[in-house]
Amino acid sequence: MTGRVLVLGGTGEARRLASALVADGVDVVSSLAGRVAEPALPPGAVRIGGFGGAGGLAEWLRANPVDAVVDATHPFATAMTASAAAAAGATGVPLLRLQRPGWSAQPGDDWRWVDSLAGAAGAVQGFGCVFLTTGRQGLAAFAGLTAHCVVRSVDPPEPPLPARTTTVLARGPFSLDDELALLREHAVDVVVTKDSGGPMTAAKLTAARELGVPVVLVRRPPLPAGVPVVATVDEVRGWIRSRAI
Ligand code: NAP
Repeated sequence: MTGRVLVLGGTGEARRLASALVADGVDVVSSLAGRVAEPALPPGAVRIGGFGGAGGLAEWLRANPVDAVVDATHPFATAMTASAAAAAGATGVPLLRLQRPGWSAQPGDDWRWVDSLAGAAGAVQGFGCVFLTTGRQGLAAFAGLTAHCVVRSVDPPEPPLPARTTTVLARGPFSLDDELALLREHAVDVVVTKDSGGPMTAAKLTAARELGVPVVLVRRPPLPAGVPVVATVDEVRGWIRSRAI
């Protein structure tokens, strides 16, 4: 493979994809939003920062021709995913979405599905200690909670935050022992998470099951119509090979 591919990244699979494509001989440019202070950088070229919406990305694609774009952003990165679909449509550059499958409940799980972070804030009313693992963006939805909230994020969260917040700065993956210890230490009685999927952050779900703690899960937003979706790095490689990139 000898072509040039733009990988919209910021996830573990985007980094694994960049490594695999570089090893395949593809000229990879990974794009990061620039949210995390010290991001784990993938191999290949890296650009950092927003494009300026769909129009900005389309302009970037015209100035920096690539054979394909792979949108490997997080399942909840809705703005970037929508921009990628619009810009690919406007420029005619082939686009593939790489998205890991969501989580599925197992026997013993007490999962409560909601459609939004605001819905999650409503679902945890009445609990004593809420473990918020939804990332530092969007925490304002929980600012009105009076419960003790344990917020875990890579970089320090910014206000507005719940009045009684304990911040735990950490980057996954997390082990089951880590998660059991954290839930016990703070006497967590409900966990809030997005349905991110994947193994990197799934141990909290196992820990919650083992301790009989309910989990409030935020459903994934829908994907743009007409964009092909795959779940694995190998499927992306197959797609790229099939296009003779
Ligand atoms: P978002 O709401 O879809 O993105 C907001 C804006 O950030 C986009 O419109 C775009 O700015 C810029 N952006 C996002 N991803 C980018 C990328 N890979 N390269 C260049 N610009 C990017 O997404 P988000 O939720 O803020 O997530 C930002 C990044 O963090 C993504 O790369 C995502 O994969 C990662 N992440 C997100 C979550 C989450 O829960 N949302 C969790 C873990 C990791 P312009 O409009 O100016 O182009």
